[in-house]
Amino acid sequence: LEDQLVQSQKMQAIGQLAAGVAHDFNNLLTAIRLNTDELLQRHPVGDPSYPELQNINTTGARAAALVKKLLTFSRKATRRMERLDVTDTLSDMVVTLRQTLGERAQLKMIHARGLPPVNADKSQIDTVLMNLCVNARDAMEDQGGGTITIQSSLLPRTAITDVHLLEALKPIPGDDFVVISVADTGTGMPDEVKSKIFEPFFTTKEQGKGTGLGLATVYGIVQQSGGHLTVDSVVGKGTTFRIYLPAAGAAPEVSELPVVKTPPPPR
Ligand code: ADP
Repeated sequence: LEDQLVQSQKMQAIGQLAAGVAHDFNNLLTAIRLNTDELLQRHPVGDPSYPELQNINTTGARAAALVKKLLTFSRKATRRMERLDVTDTLSDMVVTLRQTLGERAQLKMIHARGLPPVNADKSQIDTVLMNLCVNARDAMEDQGGGTITIQSSLLPRTAITDVHLLEALKPIPGDDFVVISVADTGTGMPDEVKSKIFEPFFTTKEQGKGTGLGLATVYGIVQQSGGHLTVDSVVGKGTTFRIYLPAAGAAPEVSELPVVKTPPPPR
């Protein structure tokens, strides 16, 4: 539990740092891009300076996209919370996932029927799923592929026997959890890797392949959704990520929240 606390404080600090840096960076980028826009008008296509100016502008756009990623992680991104049917959300992603994962990663979906809805942002859940599945595929690559199983289920609090899990879910209100798990038959992770995977920029992938932001983003999104994330991994057998989201009660439907800074998640 102490480890968890240290970890969550660490993530919070990194999140704040990322948000601060991203914010300042964004202002600087805006200034650069406004100036190059201005210059591009004075030196349009055909002008000898045009290619370089255009290059500055597109590089600026790429930097802005990276900053946006950082903001997602640091909880300052805009969200659209709604009552989501997890089964529908997962089913909607199947085609995109299959396309992204390629043929060597078999995708299996197992859904519980009649799950209660959860309060979450659909595109964020899509991001979570995509990040977890891409990692799963990468972890199976050396062995020429394998199976990714995405499963949704209902877990009443009273049915939890694992004391660590019970303790971790204690601060989250409600009686029931909707669990989304993503399991792969890949390499698995040794403990020294597992302990660092949620840190931003931690990656074991070769340069250019990994950013180390995938799981940090997943962690941030699950926190923002008021949920909990666990990972089980056995070297040589595979890895399972589980997301516990509080089942939404009979509250009235929230379709669109004003786009303002989101409050920090409960800790
Ligand atoms: P990236 O994918 O860019 O490396 P992530 O934050 O998504 O960044 O993942 C960090 C690291 O966690 C990966 O480099 C890998 O070592 C490890 N990892 C993540 N998912 C899995 C998995 N399903 N199986 C084995 N290792 C994983």
